[in-house]
Amino acid sequence: MKMGRIVSIGECMGELSETGSPGMLSMGFAGDTLNTAYYLRHGLGEDWQVDYVSAVGTDGLSDRMVEFLKSEGIGTSHVRRLPDKTIGLYYITLKDGERSFTYWRNDSAAKRLASDPEALNRALEGADLAYWSGITLAILSNQDRLALIEALGQFAGKGGTVVFDPNLRPRLWDNPETMRGWVHRAAAVSDLCLPSFEDEATWFGDADPAATAKRYQAEGARRVIVKNGSEDVTSAGSSGELSRFSVPSVEHVVDTTAAGDSFNAGYLAAELNGASIENAVAAAARLAGRVIGARGALVPDAVTQA
Ligand code: AMP
Repeated sequence: MKMGRIVSIGECMGELSETGSPGMLSMGFAGDTLNTAYYLRHGLGEDWQVDYVSAVGTDGLSDRMVEFLKSEGIGTSHVRRLPDKTIGLYYITLKDGERSFTYWRNDSAAKRLASDPEALNRALEGADLAYWSGITLAILSNQDRLALIEALGQFAGKGGTVVFDPNLRPRLWDNPETMRGWVHRAAAVSDLCLPSFEDEATWFGDADPAATAKRYQAEGARRVIVKNGSEDVTSAGSSGELSRFSVPSVEHVVDTTAAGDSFNAGYLAAELNGASIENAVAAAARLAGRVIGARGALVPDAVTQA
């Protein structure tokens, strides 16, 4: 039986949400790359190890996060502990069924996740696949962005598969132009890019998903799969061939948080289990459909209904 290892690189935050009872909050953990790690852990057999690569503090709240990752079966040996930092937090306010977010993440430990190149290389050593996102890149200093891109480039050069979701969040960047430049550099070291068309059309002006796929391939990505909400998924293969796949309709969309993150995990888990692109997209869209049918990023029911 094949033993494989995936590393997901990024920031997990504490999530505080209003419960509806005055003065009572509930506490959880989420973040784009952690969401994907969670769904990968549930989608892959025990012959796969899923490790999270990040940085947290040494305080009690950071301990809680590490305990949470462990309790979900996600490996934490490459989550660095920084004594003078703690984790980022966000708070969800509910008003008339609409969620709005307040963040405290400007000084989070995860911003230093790539500050020790040797630790980064140890985390990547022996892995088969490394997953990261434009949010991972956004939170780093320029120096650490370069270090991470270089480490992933070397990993790819040694045969590792690098998978990147651009996850465009202009608010995390100094300006959209800076975001565009770094996202393209990231795509250049990535074997597979998994963008969402709506964001790409907004920030890169792409006319259609095929244009998004072609742009990332022109930057150096070997394969691209473009998500597009309830519309068809567009895949561009390594010779540039385009395919389109429909996604099942979801009757009651409750909360689209983690639609893309869970899609990515569903796709990768299926592909790593040997599925064709068509079947992997179908599995991904089914998982994402279940995730958006419930509130929150991590939906335990979505993984048990597979
Ligand atoms: P997005 O990142 O919003 O393009 O969505 C990622 C994936 O989630 C899509 O490729 C679909 O599989 C699924 N998805 C998102 N929104 C919807 C929707 N309104 N109806 C059905 N599926 C959706």
